[in-house]
Amino acid sequence: MINRVLDICLTRLDRAPVLVSSAMAKVTDALVKITVIAVAGDAEGAARLCGETIERHLNVARSFLDGGNLKDASAEIEHIGAALLSLVKGLSLLRECSARSRDAVLAFGELLSTSLIAARARQRGIRVDFVDSRLFMRTDDNFSAAAPDMKTVARLAKRKLKPAPGKIVVCQGFIGSTAGGVTTTLGRGGSDFSATIIGAALGAEAVEIWTDVNGILTTDPRLIPNAAAIPRMSYAGAAELAYFGAKVMHPASIQPAVEKGIPVWVKNTKAPEEPGTELVPVSPYKGPRAIAFKKNITLINVVSSRMLNAYGFLSRMFAVFEKYKTPVDLIATSEVSVSMTVEGPSFLKDLIKELEEFASVEVAKNQAILCLVGKELWEEKEFFVRVFSALNGIPVKMISLGASKINLSLALPEEYCDTAVKLLHQEFFE
Ligand code: ASP
Ligand code: MG
Repeated sequence: MINRVLDICLTRLDRAPVLVSSAMAKVTDALVKITVIAVAGDAEGAARLCGETIERHLNVARSFLDGGNLKDASAEIEHIGAALLSLVKGLSLLRECSARSRDAVLAFGELLSTSLIAARARQRGIRVDFVDSRLFMRTDDNFSAAAPDMKTVARLAKRKLKPAPGKIVVCQGFIGSTAGGVTTTLGRGGSDFSATIIGAALGAEAVEIWTDVNGILTTDPRLIPNAAAIPRMSYAGAAELAYFGAKVMHPASIQPAVEKGIPVWVKNTKAPEEPGTELVPVSPYKGPRAIAFKKNITLINVVSSRMLNAYGFLSRMFAVFEKYKTPVDLIATSEVSVSMTVEGPSFLKDLIKELEEFASVEVAKNQAILCLVGKELWEEKEFFVRVFSALNGIPVKMISLGASKINLSLALPEEYCDTAVKLLHQEFFE
């Protein structure tokens, strides 16, 4: 994998690449586990797992380094490992791990992976600069979900990273530090976020997110194996898809690039020749682009006999949702009723009981939301006709049109969801 990543960087060498790397697969999970075991008081178990994690990195080093490169990298990994171990020993003794300590432990995954990458680059004779991201990724002290201070990051990143054609600058995703120099993390999966923060800070020409899929697909390939990558789509469309279940990236993680209008590419490390998906401010295509869906949805129908002209009703109703911190996904209203979808049934009972104090409530569990995303969807007169004739025979419970014209969402019983996705995929994408 590390070789493949370097190969990809080499094809971009004249564009002054900055390589922002996550930890090796499963390493962050292992580090989380180490903190849990340490807090449980199993000092030996925690130390053993630290040892295994370090050994895994040493093995990778041995597999592709030799001579002085191997010696230096091994010493570096042992050094990082010793720091990890003494930190974890402290946690085991105290049997306590604050969010701040946890971030300190989790940061080791990225520190280890990036020192391997830099070492391998040197071994291959590639010019490489290794930069500790904590020198420029200034964040607040909201440990485990720290927010970047974009102005300071922009100033420091330019000074510390200094990308230039002919070399690769390697740094860590996911980690940062407070003004006082305390290590923080941006939240799980935060490396994409790091990359777009750095891209925005440097005014990069593009940010590329390298994953293991060919880009953003027309729908979930587990359901439709021939789902294809979408060549280009808007940031907003991608966010919509992510929200409704497409597991490509977190929409918030590309926000820094969105604000600067920097194109974000989603590419496949295993198939770098595939074009991937380019996310841009405005999609050049009209019409539907992708279908996302989400199951385990509950449909709530609230009817008020007094709703006619009762303007306090909606605010009263939403106050209940707010009290239970329950986000509403879709909503449709008529003069006397409001239909909404919420995720999962766990919290529902109390919420419903409170709604019933001033309205009659119907609840349908085991529903699904299906969401067609595209551009100017209902500009084409035929669009709705095509959707509903494709779905002929499928009971649609609710329809919601995003005001942004980029999505049409339907609620339907869960058992019809797969069929409905297949029918719409056939109608629009095959
Ligand atoms: N290594 C971190 C995690 O697993 C960050 C990332 O992978 O993006 O959450
Ligand atoms: Mg990771």
